[in-house]
Amino acid sequence: MEYYSKQIGDLIAALSHLPGIGSKTAQRLAFHILSMPKDQVAHLAKAITDARENVRYCKECMTLTDEELCPICRNPKRNHRQIMVVENPRDLAAYEKTGKYEGVYHVLHGAISPMNGIGPGDIKLKELMVRLQKEDIDEVIIATNSSLEGETTAMYISKLVKPSGIKVTRIASGVPVGGDIEYIDEVTLLRALEGRTEL
Ligand code: ZN
Repeated sequence: MEYYSKQIGDLIAALSHLPGIGSKTAQRLAFHILSMPKDQVAHLAKAITDARENVRYCKECMTLTDEELCPICRNPKRNHRQIMVVENPRDLAAYEKTGKYEGVYHVLHGAISPMNGIGPGDIKLKELMVRLQKEDIDEVIIATNSSLEGETTAMYISKLVKPSGIKVTRIASGVPVGGDIEYIDEVTLLRALEGRTEL
């Protein structure tokens, strides 16, 4: 990128490290940023640094939040005895959009993938087990993706939780095989939730 001066080149390089941003998009974004009013750029930069600085895991469900407890865990109207286990905060958001799920969540931040060297210790599984031990839970709904990793994770959790006597269910296969939960429409998600079966 020698044809751009150093600071422009640095901005393009930084943007191109983001997922899904190729070098063309990075250049387009960089020149867009350079044409924005300075206060808007300052706002964008501050939003990024503030979020990175203050966002952490919810003490209870491990989703990302800027408070000790996320709004869902704080809500007394939610059913705190029903926990839906999802792979990431985007999947949580997908289920929240249906507006029909009244339980709480547990966010794993990944799935078990022996091929990629991701074991049970690399996701927030221990935190789930601690939670199940200290709270009265009626049901654990496993809503990991229907990919190989998601299924492996579901089986692993089921084996781990079942001896405790807590009901373990898996969302129905209305979710297409290999389908990412975050991209599935709300009706299909609801159908998958309602059609869940006991493991
Ligand atoms: Zn939470």
